[in-house]
Amino acid sequence: MLLTTALVFTALVPIAGLGPVPAVIGFAAVAVAVLIREASFPGSAEAAPHADRLMPAIVDRAVEAVVSDLPDPISFALRVPNVLEAIRAVAASREMRRIEFFQRVPTDRWWEATIAPLVLPGGAGPDRHLVLLALRDLTPLRRVEEMRADFVANASHELRTPLASLSGFIETLQGPARNDPSSRDRFLAIMKEQATRMARLIDDLLSLSRIEQKVHIHPDTTTDLVMIVHEVADGLSPLAQERDVEIKITDRAHALDVLGDRDELIRVFENLIENALKYGASGKRVDISLAREPATGEARDAIVSVRDYGPGIAPEHLPRLTERFYRVDIGESRAQGGTGLGLALVKHILNRHRGRLMIESTPGSGANFSVRLPLSRAGRAAHILK
Ligand code: ADP
Repeated sequence: MLLTTALVFTALVPIAGLGPVPAVIGFAAVAVAVLIREASFPGSAEAAPHADRLMPAIVDRAVEAVVSDLPDPISFALRVPNVLEAIRAVAASREMRRIEFFQRVPTDRWWEATIAPLVLPGGAGPDRHLVLLALRDLTPLRRVEEMRADFVANASHELRTPLASLSGFIETLQGPARNDPSSRDRFLAIMKEQATRMARLIDDLLSLSRIEQKVHIHPDTTTDLVMIVHEVADGLSPLAQERDVEIKITDRAHALDVLGDRDELIRVFENLIENALKYGASGKRVDISLAREPATGEARDAIVSVRDYGPGIAPEHLPRLTERFYRVDIGESRAQGGTGLGLALVKHILNRHRGRLMIESTPGSGANFSVRLPLSRAGRAAHILK
């Protein structure tokens, strides 16, 4: 059985593209299972009576052959000198060791190898001394740690820039501009803007962490998206006027009841419509459409799309837009009062609501941000009654 398993795993490497590390782990798992079974039920119960005497000897030789060959496939698959060295050390000292290592090929991965001595009682014969190698993939854990570190570095950097500007102006006002009323007014205006930017950043950071904390708690209040979208659009009409943009809402649904946190959903549409007004202002128009899907029969989802006719977004940026602090053009985002956290907030809020954000864009003709949220049970039924 062990020989067949070894052949199968060896064949799977070129045929099925199985990585050498999983192949060795798979083989080792079967090998340990077989050895333990052999130790507990020597001579295998299914074997015919006359085979009873032959089997243990054959199995013994096969096990010895495979186990003695194990270090070779391991050194072939795991070209990590530390691990091979540790296997030798554990075989000699019979003391457990734990090692972390990193592999670049085929993709960046971190592993933890636990190498432990294992004794299989030999029954009538001598005990078998083996070494158990267990590999644990630490990559997801490491990725989270890296993301946290990046996040803190980005957040500090974002706060440091307006802070440096504030300190600079304070020094100027205390020194050279002390008796210059016109410069003082100008500087104070800039300082106010920087302070507002810091406040907005802290506000967004806090919202993000609050939403992250309750990501697994699904909201349970019925909320109508049609009302929310109209309310948000009304609230943003001064900005639309200032940017000379017309907002047009097309209602294909009278009500879109979802289970949602009202304030968070307001935040979603505020961010999307504000972005369309800020980054897509040159298109002069923002179209918002509210619909059920599928349009005929019983609808399952509410779809709200916010479309602008501005410069659009190049395709390479689309998958990264919802990352924290990711911006296509940092200068423009700052000039527009952006924090780079808006779409990250949108994504987190939608995740908590079991919703999705889809972004489509043709550079030169604008961008379309669509939100899909599951309708509440009452929301689906309302449609059937109409
Ligand atoms: P910000 O605070 O910078 O607006 P967001 O997370 O809301 O942060 O958006 C991230 C980036 O996505 C923006 O900086 C901008 O480059 C781009 N973006 C978002 N919406 C649009 C849009 N409607 N048209 C063009 N670019 C957009």
